[in-house]
Amino acid sequence: MPQHTYDLFVIGAGSGGVRAARLAAKAGKRVAIAEEYRIGGTCVIRGCVPKKLLVYASEFGQAFKDAAGFGWSVENARFDWPTLRDNVQAEVTRLSGLYRKNLDAAGVTIFQDRAVVTGPHAVRLEKTSEEISAARILIATGGQPYRPLELKGQELAITSNEAFHLERLPQSIVVAGGGYIAVEFASIFSGLGVETNLLYRGEKILRGFDEDLRDHVQCELARTGVNIVTGAVFNEIAALPDGRRRASLSNGASIEAEQIMFAIGREPSTGGLGLENAGVTLAKNGAVAVDAYSRTNIASIFAVGDVTDRVNLTPVAIREAVAFVQSEFLDNPMAFDHADVASAVFGRPPVAC
Ligand code: NDP
Repeated sequence: MPQHTYDLFVIGAGSGGVRAARLAAKAGKRVAIAEEYRIGGTCVIRGCVPKKLLVYASEFGQAFKDAAGFGWSVENARFDWPTLRDNVQAEVTRLSGLYRKNLDAAGVTIFQDRAVVTGPHAVRLEKTSEEISAARILIATGGQPYRPLELKGQELAITSNEAFHLERLPQSIVVAGGGYIAVEFASIFSGLGVETNLLYRGEKILRGFDEDLRDHVQCELARTGVNIVTGAVFNEIAALPDGRRRASLSNGASIEAEQIMFAIGREPSTGGLGLENAGVTLAKNGAVAVDAYSRTNIASIFAVGDVTDRVNLTPVAIREAVAFVQSEFLDNPMAFDHADVASAVFGRPPVAC
């Protein structure tokens, strides 16, 4: 009799978790995965994939404007947000289904439930209260948008999570932040015809990127109609009688808009995971602390992807998962090298480094 029910129990069916589960199962291991929401994780459900479809949609407006000069006549071009939103969600559903199919095909047991760690080799499923034992546990719960809870009126603002499901396209929006998500969504909204403001606390967006890229993107966003406000943050957000919001800023100005969106970073999803039950060490920001081999301080518990807050990108989570399976199940110790990882910001213009 094996000592544990599973060789590997994965918590979180996103890019990292799914890859690790599938590879371990294909190597003949008994693998289970728990997911409380939809299978696919941030990238497939509320990140890269739906975002990229919105980016693509947002590029048509300019193309229609330019079309006449190239001999095309495009009369009555009109944009309908619900059509785009619903089609994007249909694609997300299709991809999520494929992820599930691939897990099934690899022989992974799927628990559509929230799992909580109860010990170094134990997890408990929330809905059924079932206790499950596993030789190894992989934490792959990803991250979530950061909300400044201390800001008055913060509950009136959306994050990227809600942006994909808006009932109607706002006439105007303030996007706060100057990183990937802020630049991408400011580009999307302005491309779709929304009066867009970008509010950044520093002087130049895309901190960490090459200076010439930062200059170029900031100039292009402004040239294509995004109102960029730098050197300011929200002091307060308030609801106006007509349903719009008023954002009072630290520079004494205020902006009124139909929607306000935070894109001011993401945080690791470790809350309520029970990691303290097993004695897993967390970093100050709540990320699971791991070494180069994605090992935590507890020998049987590992973590990959955004929950470890190393380089928060899907391809990185996938490679971390591959290295974890190679190291732990295929007798081939492998560490993913986080230096020189390529990344792209899908704004207008898209830039990469
Ligand atoms: P980023 O870390 O890229 O950017 C956060 C932005 O918010 C920065 O401009 C930062 O300013 C600002 N900020 C942080 N805290 C505050 C605050 N308290 N008040 C005001 N502004 C603040 O985070 P994102 O949310 O854009 O994206 C999260 C991560 O997701 C990215 O780092 C990336 O790893 C990944 N991602 C990748 C994408 C891609 O590959 N295309 C797309 C989307 C996300 P400052 O610069 O001054 O610190």
